[in-house]
Amino acid sequence: MNDITTYSLTEIRDLLAQGKVSAEAVTQACLTRIEATEPKLHAMLHTAAPQALEQARAMDRLGPNPKQTLWGVPLTLKDVLATADMPTTCASRILQGFRPPYDATLVARLRQAGAIFLGKTNMDEFAMGSSTENSAFGPTRNPWDLGRVPGGSSGGSAASVAARQCFGSIGTDTGGSIRQPAAFCGIVGLKPTYGRVSRFGLIAYGSSLDQAGPMTRTVADAALLLAVIAGHDPKDSTSAATPIQDWEAAATPGSLAGLRIGLPEEYWGEGLSAEVRATSERAFAMLRETGAELVPVTVPHTPYAIATYYIIAMAEASSNLARYDGVRYGYRSPHAKNLHEVFTFSRSEGFGEEVIRRILLGTYVLSAGYYDAYYKKAAQVRRRIREDFLAALDSCHLLCAPACPTVAFRLDENTADPLQMYLTDIFTVSLNLTGLPGISLPVGLGADSGMPVGIQFFGRSMDEATLLRVAATVEAARGPMPEPPL
Ligand code: GLN
Repeated sequence: MNDITTYSLTEIRDLLAQGKVSAEAVTQACLTRIEATEPKLHAMLHTAAPQALEQARAMDRLGPNPKQTLWGVPLTLKDVLATADMPTTCASRILQGFRPPYDATLVARLRQAGAIFLGKTNMDEFAMGSSTENSAFGPTRNPWDLGRVPGGSSGGSAASVAARQCFGSIGTDTGGSIRQPAAFCGIVGLKPTYGRVSRFGLIAYGSSLDQAGPMTRTVADAALLLAVIAGHDPKDSTSAATPIQDWEAAATPGSLAGLRIGLPEEYWGEGLSAEVRATSERAFAMLRETGAELVPVTVPHTPYAIATYYIIAMAEASSNLARYDGVRYGYRSPHAKNLHEVFTFSRSEGFGEEVIRRILLGTYVLSAGYYDAYYKKAAQVRRRIREDFLAALDSCHLLCAPACPTVAFRLDENTADPLQMYLTDIFTVSLNLTGLPGISLPVGLGADSGMPVGIQFFGRSMDEATLLRVAATVEAARGPMPEPPL
């Protein structure tokens, strides 16, 4: 038998279900891998080794349960998801040591399906960032090159999946935080349609943008996890009642004859590094060979996407983060001498620099004198961006775009200039403004850097099935990705 961790999630699920390998052996293999790679990567904020092993042994005593689609499968979770049996910190000092009294709905669903949680993954503080360098507990490194970032904000999840510490992870995507780190680490990341997956227990950053989704090594693995976490939840009034589909069946390669895929000219124009362009364009040939028709489309409001996204995300963040007041959750400043100081000192000492910057800017764009000029305008432009996408997706089944202008950048390369960091999100933020689903998957390695290059597909509302079918077809045409040299 191979090293257990080299199997995909769907493969290990089958081996576990058939009793060919025990839950304990699989969990132990992941924990051994975590122990070997963590000193270099720092993908995890909390590892639940004894707990996970104990759960695995208890499951083995009862034997595989055909009703549990993830029986014995070890996963990791981004530390923005509430877990009753593990700390949940959002990589912030303000929540250090916080233990939620309940599980997020998606966590409860994974548990019910028989998943074993190995721990919580590192992230940018409160999911604000594109590199995982904003974690209060130190950055995560990219398994392909330890001098580079894994992307963000779900960088810990991406690194843990790419380094085979687990068989899959759940990340969250407010402006690209599933798709961009997936691209930087050479794995698959799926942002479902807004409302597809319950946000109950997902600690809020930008509530109208946030969506949790799978991060995995294969497209079929992403389909399998989506089927477990999706579905209506009475605890989240924005969750959709749309029936879930057989996504695992959808995630099989096949002919794409009759499928029209739009190439938005704003995404394939200037600003793309030469190696990202050359590598991503390989996907065009793969798509044409399988019968798809590629057509140019335009989404003209794209130049306003970054400004619009950051105004809306910061406005929502400033409101969502008002709850961390030193009274109800987490950190309370020991220096405070009165109630006012409890609020101000706890927040100033508990939040990191980027979070404070965003609370300030978010409060500013919502303030009486500036609301019309910034927030209201951004909400109007957001609608235009959505209309662009809907029009393009009227004439095409999907859109195809690069995931990021460059491969994973170096640690500290973009930290001095926050605006520079925001600009790296140019290809991912629009999708969240529209609420539509998207997937990113690796197409190969860049010729200059040897780093993974990811491509994205954007789909129609609730049509994750077509995204998965096309992604699985590209994945098959691409062939197996090399292993990161870790
Ligand atoms: N990089 C973007 C931001 O900093 C997106 C983050 C995310 O999707 N959580 O807001």
